[in-house]
Amino acid sequence: MDLGLSGRVAVVTGGSSGIGLATARVLLAEGADVALCGRNAERLSAAARELVEKHGKERVLAVRADVLNADDCKELAAAVAGWRGRCDLLVNNAGQARMTTFAETSDAAWKEELELKFFSQILPLRAFRALLEASDAPAIVGVNSLLAYQPEPHMVATSAARAGVQNLLKSLAWELAPKIRVNSVVLGLVDSGQWRRRYESLGLTMPRAEWLASVAKEKSIPLGRLGEPEEAARAIAFLGSPAASFITGAQLEVSGGASRFI
Ligand code: NDP
Repeated sequence: MDLGLSGRVAVVTGGSSGIGLATARVLLAEGADVALCGRNAERLSAAARELVEKHGKERVLAVRADVLNADDCKELAAAVAGWRGRCDLLVNNAGQARMTTFAETSDAAWKEELELKFFSQILPLRAFRALLEASDAPAIVGVNSLLAYQPEPHMVATSAARAGVQNLLKSLAWELAPKIRVNSVVLGLVDSGQWRRRYESLGLTMPRAEWLASVAKEKSIPLGRLGEPEEAARAIAFLGSPAASFITGAQLEVSGGASRFI
């Protein structure tokens, strides 16, 4: 199947690591030109270097931007406007999880978490709205988590915020139709930068692969392992592509079967 991404212009927030970087790789391999952002300039340059080496500098644009900063989002959009004049696909991926129970979550932490989850969708959309309107087949993919539907006791704030984001994306699918399609991926556990950092912070002697296998067992993931970033990326690329032209307001679970609902 041809996804129809050749010559398309995609923007991936948080494209410097994990699922965002894998998404940039997949989109470039499918023929799209890709702009990516992240806060850490070094990490962003390293990711851009890798992508440019493989696909050429004309097809990659890296801009340092914090998606929680409206001015940064506007500057990113201005850079994309100057580069290609439109945006066919906005992947709102930037973010991270907060591992706390209700008792451990302060009011300030709640506000931070709600801001991260909601405004990482809201601010890039506001900044890119006109460039999306300039496309003949624009799409947004929100990267979300299975926690939206299946909260975990040690991730109370993240889970609640994720549920709200899922609701927001559904509203956006209605409000932005028929011009802009809005879909989401709801991810289970994917072995990305977040999981590398978690492993390092535990200071275990057990090798990382063994630790990940134990996590998959503990979580009873039917496919018996965590996902690879590219497995999430392929779902994102499909939903964001013209091949998904009649799909909007939908969520695609990429979790190795971890959901317990139907
Ligand atoms: P990584 O830590 O590997 O990547 C996160 C990316 O987001 C980095 O490029 C990071 O760069 C960027 N980022 C974070 N905050 C901001 C910000 N405010 N502005 C701009 N860029 C930002 O994690 P993942 O690949 O795992 O995460 C990608 C998304 O998937 C996240 O939204 C995450 O919550 C979600 N997710 C991941 C799951 C998993 O198991 N991996 C499960 C469910 C959801 P920098 O720090 O330099 O800004």
